[in-house]
Amino acid sequence: MTVVPVELLHEIFSHVLVFEPVSVVHTHGASSKPQWELVRSLSLASKAFRNLTLEAWFRVFVTRTPSDLTFVEERLPGIYSWAREFHCISAFSSVSGPAWDLQNFLRLHTIRLDCPSFDFNKIPLQNVPPTVFSLDLRGMIWPAPYAFEAIANLFPELRTMRMSQKKIWCGLCHTCSQVKFAGSVPQSLIYNDGLGLPIHYAWILSSLKHLQSVTIAVPFSTGVNVSLNLSDPLRDLWAGECDRCVGILYGDEEFRERWIARKKGTLADDSFGRGYRKPPALEIVEWAFWASPGNLEVEEDDEELLDFEGDDDSEADEIAELVSESAGIPDGSSV
Ligand SMILES: [Zn+2]
Repeated sequence: MTVVPVELLHEIFSHVLVFEPVSVVHTHGASSKPQWELVRSLSLASKAFRNLTLEAWFRVFVTRTPSDLTFVEERLPGIYSWAREFHCISAFSSVSGPAWDLQNFLRLHTIRLDCPSFDFNKIPLQNVPPTVFSLDLRGMIWPAPYAFEAIANLFPELRTMRMSQKKIWCGLCHTCSQVKFAGSVPQSLIYNDGLGLPIHYAWILSSLKHLQSVTIAVPFSTGVNVSLNLSDPLRDLWAGECDRCVGILYGDEEFRERWIARKKGTLADDSFGRGYRKPPALEIVEWAFWASPGNLEVEEDDEELLDFEGDDDSEADEIAELVSESAGIPDGSSV
């Protein structure tokens, strides 16, 4: 029998037990981890294996209710130092209720928030540690700019931001619309130099001094009577404008030129509205497109809310079960 030092086991586990997200980039409302059964038998070999498996397993902490953190405190406080990613699934349509207090998660670097809506400047998180530099927002039903007002306060060190939702803000009509394109659609559209955000998003996010990249993932549908064509995207610097506005307003060439100049921040004055205000460190804005499987027009907001009603057990139940099971595991780290 060979006894492997725990330190070496730790290194092996940290390299081998890396759980790839089970969901693709645009899904929301479900756990981003595989089932515990995948690693359960490994965790039962010894107490050392158990601890190392739990540590790897809880690098991503998935939670559906703030009360899960009470269980962490009482049953498995190691999660506070193990967790690097905090995946919060909230079906609240308003955040007047309780929030997740993250003050003890001192090693987090990423927060994923699946939430259908935020109140004007509230996100259901508080005391976000300054180590968090990556934010992934998914499933917002109405991603209007005001929804992002709290981000600068909560995430002052943010460097990367992803958003995935079914609609996008149109800076011309100030509404959220589903994206429709004519012709072929690229998988992604990448702008450099910090351009390419909806103009109102740019204003609100401009207070994030370290923000380097933003990715916005939206589904699209196609149609024969659609005006919006991405065959020459850099010409129009498309940044979320809806098909309706493009069809009506871009026929006026002078208007189109002034609007694009405004999006580039090159208008000499504000007579056409405030110009683009780039977050100071922003380099890359990427739009990622995925073909809608159905007709988005027929989906109602209530139906979209159903996406958040997953079958997953609560994290508290899982923690209670894991702690209970740990009691019967033998000592030793032999392999
Ligand atoms: Zn519009």
